[in-house]
Amino acid sequence: MKSSEISFYIETLGCPKNIVDSRTMRSNLLQNGFKQSYDPENADVILINTCSFIKEAQESTIETIFDVLKIKNKKKNKNRKVGIVGCFAQQFPGEIEKEIPEVDFIMGTGKYHEISHLISQKFSIELKPLAFGDSITKQVDRPLLPPHAYFRIAQGCSRKCAFCIIPKIRGNLINFSLEEMKKQYKEEMAARTDDSPLREAIFVSQDTISTSIEDLRQFVEFFQNIEHIKWIRIHYLFPDKRVFEILKLMKQFSKIVPYLDIPFQHISAAILKKMNRPDDIELFKDIIKQALILNPEIEIRTAFIIGFPGETDQDVECIADFLRNQAIHKCSFFRYSHEIGTSAYENFKDDVPDDIKVERINYLREIHIQTRNELRARWIGQKTQLMLDEINPNEIIARRPQDSPDIDEVVYIRRDPKSLKKDYKSGDIVEGCLDNAMEYDWIGEITNDYHT
Ligand code: SF4
Repeated sequence: MKSSEISFYIETLGCPKNIVDSRTMRSNLLQNGFKQSYDPENADVILINTCSFIKEAQESTIETIFDVLKIKNKKKNKNRKVGIVGCFAQQFPGEIEKEIPEVDFIMGTGKYHEISHLISQKFSIELKPLAFGDSITKQVDRPLLPPHAYFRIAQGCSRKCAFCIIPKIRGNLINFSLEEMKKQYKEEMAARTDDSPLREAIFVSQDTISTSIEDLRQFVEFFQNIEHIKWIRIHYLFPDKRVFEILKLMKQFSKIVPYLDIPFQHISAAILKKMNRPDDIELFKDIIKQALILNPEIEIRTAFIIGFPGETDQDVECIADFLRNQAIHKCSFFRYSHEIGTSAYENFKDDVPDDIKVERINYLREIHIQTRNELRARWIGQKTQLMLDEINPNEIIARRPQDSPDIDEVVYIRRDPKSLKKDYKSGDIVEGCLDNAMEYDWIGEITNDYHT
């Protein structure tokens, strides 16, 4: 049997970092002659790239594993194999082996380039690597890719936030080189056709500001100089002074979008100390202030963990005040999850009951919605650049530079076939106007067809 007779399917769970790792595995498999399948029912190998961040993610991973095993157990393909890779595999290899023996192989994080070897062993075949790109261009029926792609600028994390299991799963921070970024870009472009141009490069990592600013500048410069890329987005800024360096980069490079993704995680200094996180609230405020001075159109995204051990109503009030008085445009609230292996698990009792956590989140969400609605009001009737993400017969789904795909708002544009050009395609950038704010998203229209 040859690798070209074996097809693979990858199911990706969790965060954008996993999307990058799946792309690395895909590229490695294609380069070694395996065929990609877009339907698990037709694949000889099904890989599940898993997430293990919090209890909910672990539950959803387990659910997916059992769904995929149902496919494996269909008698259609007796040789079909299922592999569990990524964070959950790294954290619970023994448990998977013991509790789910139908799984054929387990591979943790950091070994994505070895996936072909692992699969070749399982099928007892010899690998015959192809010249780069050969196998990829032969793939037919590829689904269209969205106009954005994620680029991982570092791996792992060396911080010690008390609630977080990631450093244990992913290891200490390893910064990537410009060469690695170029390789990721090449892999991404190999997966695309003319119908799915790449327009937006999104930098992800566990802790972006731990990459040296000089490296970051080189990465930005690389993408800034690629003509077809119009937007560069930087995710996951740890709230310390180095964020000011990122603001300087924004000023210097026109393609970096006005978007600051900075998870504060809490606003009570007492809780932040217990979380082992920066607790200088005045610095948080100054970051927001300086960002808006640099560009009043910058939108801030943050996240809070609610119900950390020992959290009181007074601690929650600190977040409430912050949300009332600061320009926070987008905010996610996560229920604290007491994870085995974290220092919070070892040192504290999970003493905030679940119903109180939910109550606090609902309370804070209401306050945020109010602030958010006030901030959004200025956009009604305003012109803005829009990236067209999805073109449907009756409707186009678009996005402002201030919105990251999959987590932030979208703009729905009703399509009137008579008045709209028919040749819009995903990735076009146009001028639009926001006519109405819905509860979360927008309704808008295209006002100028310029294509950049
Ligand atoms: S910065 Fe903190 S929360 Fe983020 S991955 Fe590292 S340890 Fe976890």
